[in-house]
Amino acid sequence: MAFELPKLNYAYDALEPTIDARTMEIHHTKHHQAYVDNLNNAIAGTELEGKSLEEIQKTGSDKPAVRNNGGGHYNHSLFWELLTPGGSKEPVGNVKSEIEKIGGFEKFKEDFSNAAKTRFGSGWAWLVKNADGSLIVSSTPNQDNPLMPVADVKGTPILGLDVWEHAYYLNYQNRRPDYVSAFFDVINWDKVEELYNK
Ligand code: MN
Repeated sequence: MAFELPKLNYAYDALEPTIDARTMEIHHTKHHQAYVDNLNNAIAGTELEGKSLEEIQKTGSDKPAVRNNGGGHYNHSLFWELLTPGGSKEPVGNVKSEIEKIGGFEKFKEDFSNAAKTRFGSGWAWLVKNADGSLIVSSTPNQDNPLMPVADVKGTPILGLDVWEHAYYLNYQNRRPDYVSAFFDVINWDKVEELYNK
């Protein structure tokens, strides 16, 4: 069974003004679709065919087509679920408690924003759950993610922000910091908590 582009739980214009409808549509139907198609092509007839998307990340394939497109499909599938119209404003439950332990919500916002703003070129900022349940902020280049053996900080990603220019350029052009600060208006913290508790 080949991988498929997941449907979104909201309309393309639902996240405006934070993320505009045209960016969402192109990002989902063109960029994400391309990662899905290229991943399917890259694993067809190999030992990775039939493995779960998560397993493929953890395998740490050194094939660029698998690493880049497998990461692309995983990261974007996660990203869409982490967004919600209106956002839920603040962390809840266990994530709220764990964020308190790393300096509180304001400190977290500062650290996460810095990770997103200082990632040179294309990549992602992450909030990662360590094996002991603690949280740490990190970033990765390109379509890498914390599940991959190559990641500097390895663990379970529970929040991620796409800082590739394709994620914000139509609306924000070179103003990545404005996109990063607006992202906090559309985070689905209930989903973050669900991922933490998995
Ligand atoms: Mn993207």
